[in-house]
Amino acid sequence: MTISTNINQYIQNSLIRGKLCKWDKQIINVYITQITIQIENKELMYSLVNKAIISWNTLLKNNRINIQFNQIQYPSNADITVNWIQVGRIYEGMCKYLSVIGNSIKKITIEIGLPNAYGKNITELSIYCAIMHEFGHALGLGHGIEINDIMYVPHQKNITIPSENDLYVLNRIYNP
Ligand SMILES: [Zn+2]
Repeated sequence: MTISTNINQYIQNSLIRGKLCKWDKQIINVYITQITIQIENKELMYSLVNKAIISWNTLLKNNRINIQFNQIQYPSNADITVNWIQVGRIYEGMCKYLSVIGNSIKKITIEIGLPNAYGKNITELSIYCAIMHEFGHALGLGHGIEINDIMYVPHQKNITIPSENDLYVLNRIYNP
């Protein structure tokens, strides 16, 4: 795999108010709210977020990007709050930058869409892919340029690990 020749487009997509933005601390506390909506397999949903956090942490470490997600049990010190929603037909995820100061990300919420009667295309795999994608936004990534980028939209339902492009842009953000 190689970096796409139009990688600058991906970098452009990642600008927040004209800048590449990042966390300026190394441990990012993640608080996962309880699922209050009636669904069958809540434990599976929590485990998919856990799996995504472990996967990103391993990738970050292996690529010498000095930042790690840390799951916490109480909301008070959360940098990222993961919420669950059940709306729409194919809604899968959303990342909101609640606070960005200069080029520093301070607070984020991630919303993960739960399976519902209308979401016939929502599977365990597609939820996991959506969670990986939203945590990519949480690191400061915008949307990708190739279908195998984890940050590409419309999101491919079977892309679970970041591409060379994704990692290149992350490195541009954290190790410029
Ligand atoms: Zn996105």
